[in-house]
This record gives sequence, structure tokens and C-alpha cells, in this order.
Amino acid sequence: MDKTLEQRLYAADAALAVADEASALPEATGDARSFRDLILAKLTYAVGKDPIVARDHDWLRALSLALRDRIVDRWMATTRGVYRMGGKRVYYFSLEFLIGRLLKDGLNNMGLLGTAREALASVGVDLDVIAELEADAALGNGGLGRLAACFMESMATVGVPAYGYGIRYENGLFRQNIIDGWQTESPENWLAYGNPWEFPRREVAYEIGFGGAVEASEGWDGSAVHAWKPAETVLAVAHDTPVVGWRGLRVNTLRLWSARSPDPISLDAFNAGDHIGALTARTKAESISRVLYPADSTPAGQELRLRQEYFFTSASLQDLVRRHLKQHREIRTLAQKAAVQLNDTHPAIAVAELMRILIDIHAMSWADAFALTRDTISYTNHTLLPEALESWPVPLLERLLPRHMQIIYAINARVLTEARAAGATDAMIAAVSIIDEGHGRRVRMGNLAFVGSHKVNGVSALHSELMKETVFRDLNTVFPGRITNKTNGITPRRWLMTANPGLAGLLRETIGEGFLDDAEKLVALEPFARDPGFQERFAAVKHANKARLAKTIQQTLGLRVDPAALFDVQVKRMHEYKRQLLNILETIALYNAIRTHPEKDWVPRVKVFAGKAAASYTSAKYIIKLINDVAKMVNTDPAVRNLLKVAFLPNYNVSLAEVIIPAADLSEQISTAGMEASGTGNMKFALNGALTIGTLDGANVEMRDHVGADNIFIFGLTAAEVEARRAKGLNPRANIEADPALAEVLDAVGSGVFSPADPQRHRGTVDNLTNSDWFLVTDDFTSYSAMQRRIDALWGTPAAWREKAILNVARMGWFSSDRTIRDYSDEIWGLPTVKVG
Ligand SMILES: *Cc1c(COP(=O)(O)O)cnc(C)c1O
Repeated sequence: MDKTLEQRLYAADAALAVADEASALPEATGDARSFRDLILAKLTYAVGKDPIVARDHDWLRALSLALRDRIVDRWMATTRGVYRMGGKRVYYFSLEFLIGRLLKDGLNNMGLLGTAREALASVGVDLDVIAELEADAALGNGGLGRLAACFMESMATVGVPAYGYGIRYENGLFRQNIIDGWQTESPENWLAYGNPWEFPRREVAYEIGFGGAVEASEGWDGSAVHAWKPAETVLAVAHDTPVVGWRGLRVNTLRLWSARSPDPISLDAFNAGDHIGALTARTKAESISRVLYPADSTPAGQELRLRQEYFFTSASLQDLVRRHLKQHREIRTLAQKAAVQLNDTHPAIAVAELMRILIDIHAMSWADAFALTRDTISYTNHTLLPEALESWPVPLLERLLPRHMQIIYAINARVLTEARAAGATDAMIAAVSIIDEGHGRRVRMGNLAFVGSHKVNGVSALHSELMKETVFRDLNTVFPGRITNKTNGITPRRWLMTANPGLAGLLRETIGEGFLDDAEKLVALEPFARDPGFQERFAAVKHANKARLAKTIQQTLGLRVDPAALFDVQVKRMHEYKRQLLNILETIALYNAIRTHPEKDWVPRVKVFAGKAAASYTSAKYIIKLINDVAKMVNTDPAVRNLLKVAFLPNYNVSLAEVIIPAADLSEQISTAGMEASGTGNMKFALNGALTIGTLDGANVEMRDHVGADNIFIFGLTAAEVEARRAKGLNPRANIEADPALAEVLDAVGSGVFSPADPQRHRGTVDNLTNSDWFLVTDDFTSYSAMQRRIDALWGTPAAWREKAILNVARMGWFSSDRTIRDYSDEIWGLPTVKVG
């Protein structure tokens, strides 16, 4: 029989009173009671629900608001403290923040996870159940956006006063549905139930101009003065979300801009009966913050995308300049008090916009303005892929941002003059120029960001070196020393403590709490790596995580998988360079081998895939379909005897990653060497005790250095070898001929064995491999396949496997984003950081 809530509250009070007396931690229990009262007050007065009829969503909102109150106290204290100290602030400009859910992370960082669980339990509510209802804020595509989210949390943790600046997209990344094995996209309405974390700041609004003309006049000293008269204005309205660091030490602000029309409705048109036309201007203005571009590693060549970039960049610069002047009065000290970090080139227009503000509004000289801009701004490069380097047609920029185009030309003239004086050849001048003359005159945003920054960083050691040899070779010659490396990291609060509480708990019992404040203290685990007792407990945690994932697979796909099997996982955006194709082709080879040699001692494997393809990326969508076609056949083939299962989980996002990653035994990081700038998924897996099979690409190289070459499975061509092969001319046919297993797989896929209803379906994929294979799938297939069999062999010796897995956990502390942020602070921003704990 259900008790009434009143009875439950009464019983809970009585229980808490008893616990109070008995508990070794009376204040913790007392806190649960006061926190419960706060939740009940929120439920009643903010949600407007009687506890008797409250539903799970109401409890979620009440809990979120209760937590928010506690966070806000710290937020105000932090903000006041920064203001009083008068120190430097970091402004992280990013078109993407892939923050995911905030409740559990916030509770964990505030030290309230246990308190909230207890408080809710006392009213019969399960924290884990309501936490699952929170919308996943997917305001980003993948790694780049998730990096921004990890950085925000780490900046709050290590004591860097920071604002994240971005766009409050009404629709984040699309929801991926898999229908008959194909990806379809639908809008993700993350704001449907409201957003308890944000504070709309109607009073913080800036005018953002577009189009129009530039008026030149003569200044008092005879110099030219320019005034931009935009034809069109959009309002940027701030929405603030507090970002709480570990132990609630400090709370920073994520300020996202929403677009509003200054004239919500044309009354004349409306009164004349044109009810739709009356809203046209508003619709156009507000479309700027309507959707996140689902483009991953390709520039979206749409005018709206450029509008989004300028919109949030201009609003953010206006905001930080206003804050600076209010506090420090003097624009000339800006670079001492503000560090602007550009996350990729999406906000690169900041270089021209800050110049415009300094020259046109604050009447600075060109030389002073440029020095100040450079000292303030720095830029992070995320890709070397030529097709992903952002550039805008000159005529478009001229029309949309005429004053900025003038400034860009002027910057370019000075840079090229400087380069020429330093002895640059014509070829170097062409490469250094902000204007690309080769493709119908375009503005290269990477070059603009480079020349307007005092530091330009890559995101892994390999990537930063390749930057110097490829995209920025000539800029690096003209501006030596400007390129630096800051290897990416991940926050261990989200990716270990809250995603894998079982492992975090085991680690606390084994090596104490030190690693919670300093992830590099995980090395204390090394002596336990061969300890049979510890290995058993470590394996038990992994097994429980795998059982949880098995349940998710059963619920979403109706597929039963055995948690005792080797869980082999590749989850990330679908992209040819990430080579999900290599993985599924090798899976087919394994399928063939199991059927040909049923007598062999095969290791049972579950192949887990997840990832979204950009909506227009046809070949990536075919790879999703191929995976699902293979899954359909393999999963129901009795000849396989459950030795192999293939699962493609739909709608990969941060929340799904939090379930999948702690359950992985094997992490697939198999990109074509030289193409993955860093990767951060690779770090999450290793920190959670998965072994990596990977190429020497991105941060995999440094992971090998840290965990030890014996504890990671490296295969395939190096970046230098890839480059050499491409230069010489690829020869996929020879590769296929040399490996009969590969030839058999391609025959099967190409002839429709996995798509009997449409035998031609995967012909294009196979032809592309046979005829060009730009991503060197056939070059690496044989060594990849051989390495998978070595992995099978190791799996057969659990003690050896576990030792390696434990050593991975012990040695991954360096990849905490706290370390990354300390590096940025020391070497780019010029800011002190603090030790936690
Ligand atoms: C970490 C993460 C990524 C990045 O993964 P990579 O393997 O580095 O590409 C992408 N999406 C989500 C949801 C993530 O959590």
C-alpha cells in the first residue's frame, strides 16, 4: 500500500532523527533534512505543485532549483571576489558548448550528491530516476564543443575567473533516429520543459549590426575617421548559466546570447492585414540563434552561419569591453585584464571587431589598436583538413560586414609588408595572405586569427607539429614562436566521478581521496595493478557497468548481449577519417573467420557503435547503414553462436557517452594518422579502464608515452608514412590483393551479401575504397586485424588484461583538463591558478 506523502515525511523525519543520533556524520544527515525542506519549498512556491501530486519532472525542477540556490551563493561570492581583486579574466569564445546534463555534475561538485539522494529518498523519490529526465544540452557537435564544456568546469576548478561566450541555440544538435538502419534527423527540443539553470538577462542586450555602409570623415588631426552605419540591427540578449567547479570552490559564468528583433512586430503591416509579413523581420533576426549548424569538420558555407559567428563575437566583445571600462576606466589596459581565447576560427572575426571597437569607437591609433588586439586574443586550431579550414567569400563579407572587410584589408597590407621586409618569397606571401586569391577571393579565417593573436595553439603534440609543417608553415616562418601546444584534456569530475561512481568509490577506498583534487595522484594505484584482490574488485566494477550498458542495449535495440563478452567500442562523430568503416570491415572478417573455423577458441565480442553523421554527409550515412546491415545478419546468425554481436546505439550524446564509456573493455581510436587533431574520447575511455587500439594519431601518441607502450595497442601507418604514401600514389588494389580476408569482405559487401534486398547498396562504398581510399583503410586493414587477434589472446589471460587496464587508470591523470587549463594559464593567458584540496 502506498503511504501518503505526509506519512512518508513523518516517517522520514523520525528516521532522520534516529539517524542524527546514531550517525558519525550528524551534520550530513541534518543537511539532508534542510536540503529536503529546500526542495519542498521549491516544489511548492517555484514549481507551484503540491508534493502530493508532484510528478517526476516537477521533482527534477524542484531539485535543480534547490541546487541552483546553493550554487548561486557561491557564484555571487566568486564574482564579488574577482571584482574586488581586480585581476584578469579569461573569455572563452566558442560557437559550441556540448555541456550535456548539469544536475549530477553540479551536485557532485557542490558535495551534495549524497545529501540530495538522501533528501529525495526520504520523500520516496529516486535521484537516479529523475536525473535521467534532464534534457541533454547538446549545443555542440562533438569533441570541439565538449572540450569547451570540460574547460569551463576546469577553469572554475583551478580558480581561473572566466566567462564562456556562445550562442543559446533553441535547437541544439539534431536527434538521430535510426529507421530501418538509416539515420534520420529530427529537431532536439532541449528547452521544452524550460531550463532551470539559466538566468535570462533582458537588461544585458547589445545591438549587432549587419550590412549598410561605412562613412569616412576627417578627424580633428586630419586623419580618416570611419563610422559604420549598419542597415540592419539584431539584439543579443544574455542568458547566464553558473558553472561550478570542484568542491564549489568557484563558480564561473557561461553567457549564451539569444537573438531578438528590436521591432518584434510591424504594426503597420499587421493592421493592414499582413499577419505573417508583420513578423518577417522578427523571424529573420531570431533565426540567428535558432539552430546549431550540424556541421562537423566542414565549414557551413551559409550566410546565416557567418551571421551567427559575428553575432556572438560582437556581443561578447561589447560585453567584455563594457565590463573592463566600468571597472578599470581605461581601454589601454584591456590586455592586462582580459584574455580572449578563440575556440577554432568560428569567432575569428573578433580580430576585426575588436580593432573596429578600438579604432572607430575608442579613437585609438592603428598601431596601438593592433598591439592591444594581439595581446588580448589567442587562437586554438582544431583541424588541418583543408576542406575544414573556414573561409568566406570576399563579396559576402563586404556586403554583411563592410567595415570589417576594410579592416581585414588593412591588417593584411601591414602583415604582407612586414613579411616582405623579412624576406618572404612570392609563394610565402600568397600563403601568409589573409585573402586567398586562388578560389575566387576568400577571406581565410585561420590566417586572420593567426595574425591577430599572440599565441596560436594546437591540441596535441603531433597536431601542433603538423600545424607548423602544413597549414601555418609560412606564417610560422614569418612569426616564429607564436605556435605552441596545449594537449587537450577531460574533466575527471564528469568522466570519472559522476559517470563511473563504482570505480571512483573503489579508488577512494584503495588510494584515498587525493586523486579527487589532483588526478595525477592516480599513480598511487600502480602498486595495486597486479594485486589479485584489487583486480577482482576492479573487474567487478567493470562488470556492473557492462551489465548496465547491456540493459540499455536491450532496451533500445531489443538485443541481448552478455556482459562477460569483450565490449569493443567505437563512439564518436561518424567521419571517414575516423574510420568506422575499418572497424566494421574487420568485424565482417571476424564473422567470416568464426564461421569458417567454428572449432577455434573465439573470444566473445560485442561491437558497440554510436555516432551522428552530418545530415548532408552521404558516405558517412552509408557507413551507418552498413553497420546496421551487418548487425542484422550477425546478430541473428546461429552459426555465430553469440560469439559476436553488433550494436549501433542511436543518438550519441554526452549522456549516452556517460553510460557507454565506463562499460568499455576496448576503445577504438583508429583514425588515419595525421587526421585526428587530438581526440578526447580516447582519454575518457582509458581513464575508465578500457585498453586502446589505436593509430599513432592525435593524443594517442602522448597516451602511449604516459600509459606505456605495453599497455596500449598501436597499429598502422604513422602520419609521416601516410603522407609518403599519398605523395607516391595510393594503391588500394594491391592492398586488397595482398590480404585475402580483406578481399573476401569487400566482395561480400559489394555484392550485397549484407543487403540482399538491395544488392547494389554498398557498391559505392566498396568502389570508393578500391579506387581511391583516401583514408588508407586498405593500407591499415591487415595490421589492424592482426592486432585484434593479439587482443583476443590477451583477453584470455584476465590477470594480464586487468593489470594493463589498471595501469591505464593510474597513468591517465595527466590528461585531466585541469592540467590543460594550467598550461593555458601559464603560457597563454598569464594568469595564476590554484591547487584544490
Ligand atoms: C568526448 C565526446 C566527443 C569527442 O569524441 P572523439 O572520440 O574525441 O571524437 C564527441 N561527442 C561526445 C558526446 C563526447 O562526449
